[in-house]
Amino acid sequence: MSKGTLFVISAPSGAGKSTLVERIRCIFPDVLYSISCTTRSPRAGETDGVDYYFVQRERFLAMVAAGELLEWKEVHGNLYGTPARPVTDVLATGGRMILDIDVQGAGEVFKRVPSSVGIFISVPDMAVLEERLRRRGTETEASIRTRIGNAEEEMAQGRAFRYQIVNDDLETAVAELASVIEKESGPCKAGSTPEISRL
Ligand code: ADP
Ligand code: 5GP
Repeated sequence: MSKGTLFVISAPSGAGKSTLVERIRCIFPDVLYSISCTTRSPRAGETDGVDYYFVQRERFLAMVAAGELLEWKEVHGNLYGTPARPVTDVLATGGRMILDIDVQGAGEVFKRVPSSVGIFISVPDMAVLEERLRRRGTETEASIRTRIGNAEEEMAQGRAFRYQIVNDDLETAVAELASVIEKESGPCKAGSTPEISRL
């Protein structure tokens, strides 16, 4: 039986997931972040082994074949997957971890780890989403179009998550997310960060 807690956070690209997760990690230093593997190129400021494990397609497919990924999906034209070992470690040792993954991958995790807590982050409307993606300045026009095009369907799938948080005012959304984490797994457990496997 698992002792730890897995938080699965999904949102359309640009809704503010990374911003919220960063804030939560400051409030709860013991909450670990699952570093996904991806075949997409690093953005300016992203570090391999911190934001993602940036891998070639062949290496990614070898990990799939070896059963090393808890789930994997093609998202906006690139492959993304969650390394299984860190998740297993956290569940076994009673820690807590956040997975920031797409809605399809989240569905897969809900099946494989039924105790996981799904949190969907949405935005007040599509215009806000487009404006945030443009203001972030990391995507090409084609990538913005793909991400906006996928967002409507992703928003519709938010109902499958245990919690829904609208990221309109950032401070309100941070407070709501913090309260869900505390409700589901308790207050900050400083000094109790468990050791987990890395790739
Ligand atoms: P995601 O990880 O979901 O793709 P980001 O966290 O990168 O999204 O956020 C997209 C952009 O929107 C960033 O430039 C971020 O600073 C900004 N942002 C995030 N939350 C808010 C908010 N509540 N209000 C205004 N801008 C926000
Ligand atoms: P980005 O390219 O903006 O970092 O991420 C694009 C999308 O891929 C986001 O919805 C993000 O949550 C999702 N994603 C990131 N890592 C994973 C993963 O390991 N698995 C799945 N299924 N989706 C992921």
